[in-house]
Amino acid sequence: MVGNHQRNRQRHFWRPAGDGRRHAFRRSRWDGRTTEAVTVCGDEVTLSADTDETAWVVAPSCLDCNGLLLREKRGGGGHG
Ligand SMILES: [Zn+2]
Repeated sequence: MVGNHQRNRQRHFWRPAGDGRRHAFRRSRWDGRTTEAVTVCGDEVTLSADTDETAWVVAPSCLDCNGLLLREKRGGGGHG
């Protein structure tokens, strides 16, 4: 058997952005230098290199990003 239970082709990562929320970004990981990025939900936000752990804890996840990713995960090739 092949361990291919993870069939997600689209990589993304979560990171607290300048607006105080955690957004998802369409890359496998942050390169550590990009300061401006477009979130999955379509916002242009600022990324800070020195995001401390407190920001991770207090920042609420962006519901738009979350919803979009969930739909992609579920739907796959659905139309609509
Ligand atoms: Zn978002």
